[in-house]
Amino acid sequence: MEPRLYLKPGHDRPVRRHHPWVFSGALGRLEGPVADGGVVEVLSFDGEWLARGYLNRRSQILARLLTWDPGEAIDEAFWERRLERALQARAALRLEEMTSAYRLVFAESDGLPGLIVDRYGDFLVLQSLTLGVERWKEVIVRLLAERLHPRGIYERSDVEVRAKEGLAPAEGVRFGEPPPPRLLITEHGHRFYVDVIRGQKTGFYLDQRENRRRAAAYLAGAEVLNAFSYTGAFAVYALKAGARFVVNVDTSAEALQGAVENLRRNGFDERRFENIEGDAFQVLRRMRAEGRRFDAVILDPPKFAYAQAHLPRAARGYKDINLQALHLIRPGGLLITFSCSGLVSPDLFQKIVFAAAEDAGRDVQILERLSQAPDHPVRLSFPESEYLKGLICRVW
Ligand code: SAH
Repeated sequence: MEPRLYLKPGHDRPVRRHHPWVFSGALGRLEGPVADGGVVEVLSFDGEWLARGYLNRRSQILARLLTWDPGEAIDEAFWERRLERALQARAALRLEEMTSAYRLVFAESDGLPGLIVDRYGDFLVLQSLTLGVERWKEVIVRLLAERLHPRGIYERSDVEVRAKEGLAPAEGVRFGEPPPPRLLITEHGHRFYVDVIRGQKTGFYLDQRENRRRAAAYLAGAEVLNAFSYTGAFAVYALKAGARFVVNVDTSAEALQGAVENLRRNGFDERRFENIEGDAFQVLRRMRAEGRRFDAVILDPPKFAYAQAHLPRAARGYKDINLQALHLIRPGGLLITFSCSGLVSPDLFQKIVFAAAEDAGRDVQILERLSQAPDHPVRLSFPESEYLKGLICRVW
């Protein structure tokens, strides 16, 4: 008999609506030969079959749901079908025409909870975030290798969320060759070196691809402050679009070294940019005191809110950094501001920016609302997958 997870009364609605998570608080009882990482049938309290997923009792997310079709088994063919669906959806986006780096599999959004696969040219980078995926990892690697013939598949499962699943970090070559330390990609005609072994996330912030292009459209002739620059991707786009000068700010010396290389690779030297290693909150305050001003400020901070309990503190952080940025913008200039905290809704983010504008005494107009690139789709039944939001604002 398959192990069965009976929900508590009143907890079946999200499952019926295809939300892919069952929280531990929804558990009525477990029956059968239950194994963490293994497949479990999910039933309502009175025994109606609802879905099938994989289980992990160590996690607050007790089960991640894979199918709502009673006839669909979780076997190798299942993973092959789901991977194929994700790959076909990416092919339909014709991303290859604009970029050699993009997300092939976006976890829950692609019906593959816990699995991320990014393509960087001839190499794939895989992240396995859950015990359930861990169990199928070898199969997934083999299917990807057979289907896509990459030069190599590298695993970057060095993320903290794995601890919640009882998993240690995992990294290394899983197929073929190791990726070179400076893998060259092309994004909208710009060249970037990506270090998929040591860089942040899987090496590059692919979710910002379209937003970099949108932002650049406003930056001809501008003096730009690029705060939280990482390896200077927004800076390259800005200068290529005719910006006069860009100042990058980041706490990571490695990221800024990467920015130097990327800016040079695209034909720009230190006459067009400056890098400041430091905490953006402090650097922006100092710039205000020094009377330094810009035509545009880009803010792309890391995730501030990891849990509902951190939301008030995160909101204060977003408000403060936006306030500091607003102080530096010349009248008629631009604020290009992002939040990648899924817990901060677009509506809340707009309110936070408004609060900062009030405090700064600036009148602000929204010109564009931005989201994540389409290779990071938002699944309607999983609102958590909508995490990146941005505003392009004119500041008076
Ligand atoms: N805009 C970038 C991605 C930014 S990711 C791109 O398009 O590629 C966020 C960056 O903020 C990381 O590089 C991280 O090193 C940096 N960071 C984190 N905390 C910071 C702080 N307090 N001050 C400045 N940079 C910070």
